[in-house]
Amino acid sequence: MIEERFDAIVVGAGMAGNAAALTMAKRGMKVLQLERGEYPGSKNVQGAILYADMMEKLVPEFREEAPLERHLIEQRFWMMDDRSHVGMHYRSEDFNEERPNRYTIIRAQFDKWFSSKVREAGATVLCETTVTELARDERERIVGVRTDRRDGEIHADVVVLAEGVNGLLGTRAGLRARPTPDNVALAVKEMHFLPRETIEARFNLKGDEGVVIEAAGTISRGMTGMGFIYANKECISLGIGCLVADFQRTGQTPYGLLDQFKRHPSVAPLIAGSEVKEYSAHLIPEGGYKSIPQLYGEGWVVVGDAAQLNNAIHREGSNLAMTSGRIAAEAIDLVKSRGEPMSATNLSIYKKLLDDSFVIKDLKKYKDFPPLMHTHSQNFFLTYPQLISKAMQNFVRVDGTPKAEKEKATLKSFVKARSWTGLFGDAYRFARAWR
Ligand SMILES: Cc1cc2nc3c(=O)[nH]c(=O)nc-3n(C[C@H](O)[C@H](O)[C@H](O)COP(=O)(O)OP(=O)(O)OC[C@H]3O[C@@H](n4cnc5c(N)ncnc54)[C@H](O)[C@@H]3O)c2cc1C
Repeated sequence: MIEERFDAIVVGAGMAGNAAALTMAKRGMKVLQLERGEYPGSKNVQGAILYADMMEKLVPEFREEAPLERHLIEQRFWMMDDRSHVGMHYRSEDFNEERPNRYTIIRAQFDKWFSSKVREAGATVLCETTVTELARDERERIVGVRTDRRDGEIHADVVVLAEGVNGLLGTRAGLRARPTPDNVALAVKEMHFLPRETIEARFNLKGDEGVVIEAAGTISRGMTGMGFIYANKECISLGIGCLVADFQRTGQTPYGLLDQFKRHPSVAPLIAGSEVKEYSAHLIPEGGYKSIPQLYGEGWVVVGDAAQLNNAIHREGSNLAMTSGRIAAEAIDLVKSRGEPMSATNLSIYKKLLDDSFVIKDLKKYKDFPPLMHTHSQNFFLTYPQLISKAMQNFVRVDGTPKAEKEKATLKSFVKARSWTGLFGDAYRFARAWR
């Protein structure tokens, strides 16, 4: 057993764990951070967009130091059927600002840098160390961790669980239920390398400008899921993810979907001639507000993906992870500064602070969205994209048919596919879940 005692042990060196460890170390706490990967970031998968506002609260000077790829000036939303896409693009010169709002990053590089800030702040960071179990005292309070290292048990006043979406430790310790297949998506991602000039020409970019494409529709074969394409400096991150429950139901494979996505006529020209150097797969918590587990207890708090804090509608995860990690650390510091024990009652301040933040407010707003998308996935991810694509084609194709007849045909196609009751019902359910 390691005799040294810590104020806090942080399990995991992803976005949430780094935010928590950094915040506590900066405030003078004695922090030990344990990461199973060879280095921070080696196990982490993300698209990835970094949200500057949340990063700035942790490392104000990150823009000068961190390995950033491109700042985003354009967002494209595509609704796809097998041969077309209907798009909505937002591009603004306003995003070419002095302090850009969002960046693309490569997590393996970024997490390494983020971790260097944690070390600089004074935390002890141990990689290649898997926490195998939480240690409890005779009153069942969490008092530390056991690891796969020989010297075993390490003690601290509080353990911050930042172990990511699988949450094996928390589940094993009975602190949370195992994520269910309808609450997690499985995403696969590839990195396609191309010369910088080629990427800039294909995406209409100059300098470090960047673009992201979020895509939904028949690419997910009626399952609840989305695809994404992010332009980095010299590579394109491309991936697709769907609910695990839907993969189980349909027998579709993530690789099959990714392959189809890459061959789609709107996507193939963007990655033509590229060299694929990396392939990864990872889970994403998508159950939303209703899937959030107990966030604190006797001697522990849980943050980031391990707490299911992910906004699937806006594709935000890392910012919720950073914010929950920071807020948990601030709450712990508050309890410590009062000289009080890390009891469940005292740590409940973490939940109160989180409830007041955008993290819980946003997830609460969309609380009915995940079940709606799941139960109506055939309509939202298959039927409507096909109908909308046909309607658009009918609208733009000039073939001598009078416009009034075209409009009638379009309306008829919607009613035939969904009926009037179905159409109104879908619109009502969608609007209710969005409010
Ligand atoms: C394909 C994909 C694309 C995404 N795109 C975006 C995006 O563009 N923008 C965005 O904001 N979010 C995105 N996300 C979500 C985002 O990646 C997560 O929300 C974020 O990484 C969560 O951070 P975290 O620290 O909670 O977990 P993680 O980043 O998963 O970190 C958990 C860490 O804990 C370590 N660990 C686990 N168990 C143990 C153990 N027992 N002992 C020691 N260490 C352990 C792991 O090795 C890992 O380093 C994406 C996710 C995926 C999969």
